[in-house]
Amino acid sequence: MNLPDDFAFTQGSLQDAADCPRRFELRYIKRLRYPAVEAAPALQFERRTRQGARFHKLVQQHLLGLPAETLARSLHDDPELADWWETFRKTGLAGLPEGRQAEIALQTHLGGRRLIAKYDLLALDAGGEAVIVDWKTWRRVPAQHYLESRLQTILYRYVLAKAGAHLYGGPIPPQKIRMVYCFVATGGERVSIDYSAAQLRADEDYLLNMIAEIDDAEQFPLTEDEARCRFCTYRSLCERGDAGLVDLLDEDEFEEEDFVLDFDQIAEIEF
Ligand code: SF4
Repeated sequence: MNLPDDFAFTQGSLQDAADCPRRFELRYIKRLRYPAVEAAPALQFERRTRQGARFHKLVQQHLLGLPAETLARSLHDDPELADWWETFRKTGLAGLPEGRQAEIALQTHLGGRRLIAKYDLLALDAGGEAVIVDWKTWRRVPAQHYLESRLQTILYRYVLAKAGAHLYGGPIPPQKIRMVYCFVATGGERVSIDYSAAQLRADEDYLLNMIAEIDDAEQFPLTEDEARCRFCTYRSLCERGDAGLVDLLDEDEFEEEDFVLDFDQIAEIEF
């Protein structure tokens, strides 16, 4: 066993394991958080991270009862965030089931391990749809197949199917579950991903296999896809470049998708 008995898998740790076993080892087994200066360009990274965290906080406050107009008045210092908030006000909750649970965490067990999912919003009608909503502040909308393959999509639907009965008035049939990504920085565009009993079985097998591989692994190799190293905190440890080289890049050269994991982990910290 490489992990302590009480280790709980989240979408962030699972995605790390899928992207780079070495990153998983450094972050969750060796518990090295920030061995070097955070990947450059640090200022832009920090600004986007703060904006993403602040946006999620706004949504949380609104869903707990604070009026959207009141919250909007606090955003005069950040026009971009104000735009996202306006987009959320117009489109964020449209068409969702009325039974809403914001900032809620659920857990289940699989392969002797805990799985935890922390949701921006669950919108459920007993006997009707069970919609998982996740707000993203990314500057572009990824392809549907990319979102379908993300561990967040796989884990969140699975955990809701296994652990959401008390919110739904009974077991949730997988075909009633849908995951919706809402992109507030691109006009509120949505990507909706359905679920099914067959997909649940496939995801369960996939997660079981991942967990067993992590627990039994004797080595955690570096990813062969060196593009994943470009903004990774551990580059210096892996001899995959250093921050100074990235400083030379034009800001527009890096894509927000490179920061997907970091934004997701920030969202988790918000709970
Ligand atoms: S620098 Fe590359 S190989 Fe090293 S942990 Fe990060 S992603 Fe993995």
